[in-house]
Amino acid sequence: MHVLLTGGSGFIATHVLHVLLDRGHTIVTTLRTQDKAQKIKDAHPTLGKNKLDFAIVPDIAVPQAFDAAVQSNPPFDAVIHTASPLSMSITDVQKEVLDPAIQGTTGLLASIKRFAPSVKRVVVLSSLAAMVDFSKGDWPSHRYTADDWNPITHEEALQDAVNGYRGSKTFAEQAAWAFMKHEKPAFSLTTLNPPFVFGPVMQHLSSLEVLNNSNKRFVALLNGMLLPTTFYCWIDVRDVALGHVKAMEDESTAGERIFFTSGEQYCNKDILQILDEEFPEFQQRLPDRASWEKVGYPAGGVYKIDANRARKVLGKDFISLRQSVVDTVKWLREIGI
Ligand code: NDP
Repeated sequence: MHVLLTGGSGFIATHVLHVLLDRGHTIVTTLRTQDKAQKIKDAHPTLGKNKLDFAIVPDIAVPQAFDAAVQSNPPFDAVIHTASPLSMSITDVQKEVLDPAIQGTTGLLASIKRFAPSVKRVVVLSSLAAMVDFSKGDWPSHRYTADDWNPITHEEALQDAVNGYRGSKTFAEQAAWAFMKHEKPAFSLTTLNPPFVFGPVMQHLSSLEVLNNSNKRFVALLNGMLLPTTFYCWIDVRDVALGHVKAMEDESTAGERIFFTSGEQYCNKDILQILDEEFPEFQQRLPDRASWEKVGYPAGGVYKIDANRARKVLGKDFISLRQSVVDTVKWLREIGI
C-alpha cells in the first residue's frame, strides 16, 4: 500500500515506519522541518523517493495543514496518524496541546476526504488516556475495555499539562469518530489506544531531555528515584507499531476502537526486580530495596484489562515486560546513561 504517516520523527512513528518498510509498503511521512526529514533520509541511505519520501507540515494545528501532504502521485491507499503533542513542558494547554491534537486530527480527516479519494483506510493513534476515568483510582472491580471513555471536561483539561494531554487525546478521538458519523467519508477509521509505551528508541534524539515520557521512568529508576507506577498497564513500542500496520492492512478492524495493551499488567516494583536481575552493574544505582514495596501493587488490587482484541490483531504473543525492559535499558546503556 502507499501510506501517509504523520509525525515521522516521533518515538512510536519511527517504529511504525520500519514496520511499514519491512512489510513492503511505500511511505510519505510528514515532518515539521527539512532538517528532521534529512535525519530520516540519513538513516535510510539506500531507499529511493519511490519507497520513502517526505512532506513538511510545520504545525498540524493550522487549518488545511495537510491539504498538500495528502495529495500524492501515486495516490495514497492509507493514512496512519501519530503526530500529536506529548510534552509536559507547556504553558498554554489550549494552544500547545488541545488545538494541535484536535485540529490536527479533524483537519487531516477533512483533507483526506477532500483531496485524497483513493484513501480507503485511516488508523489514528489515540491513547489509554482517552479511556480512563482517573477519578476512580485503582478501581479493582473494573475491567478496562474499548467501551470506556475518559469523562474529562474541557474546563478540567485546561487545568494543567497532565490534564491537557488527557483531554487532548479524548477530544481528538471523539472528534475523529464524530467526523466519521457526520461526514461519512469514503475511508474507514480504526483507532488504537495504547497505555504506557516502553521500548528501545530508534529516532534521532538531540538529548535525553527529549526522550519520550514513558521511557523516562527507566532513567529515573536507574538514577535511584522511586517513581509511583501511575498506571498499571503497558505495551512494547514494537508491538504498537506492528499493531498499527496490521490494523491498516486488516479491513476487519474498520470502525473499531482497540485497547492496544499488552496482556501483562505491571508495577514499577516489577521493573526494579527485572533491572536488579538482568543488570548487576546497575544494582547500586537503584532505589533502596526496602522502599520497593511502595511502588508495588496496592493491597486492595487494581483494575483489570482486556487485551484480547489487540492480541488478535497482532496475531502473535506480546513482547514480555522482561524483554522490553532489557531491550530498553540495553539501548540506554549504549547511549551512555
Ligand atoms: P513523540 O513526542 O515522540 O512524537 C510526537 C510526534 O508528533 C512528533 O513527530 C512531533 O513532531 C509531532 N508533533 C507534535 N506536535 C506537533 C505539531 N503541533 N505540529 C506538527 N507535528 C507535531 O510521541 P510518541 O511517539 O511517544 O507518541 C505519539 C502519539 O502516541 C501521541 O499521540 C501520544 O499521545 C500517543 N501515545 C503515546 C504513548 C507513549 O507512552 N509514548 C502512550 C499512548 C499514546 P516533533 O518531533 O517535530 O516535535
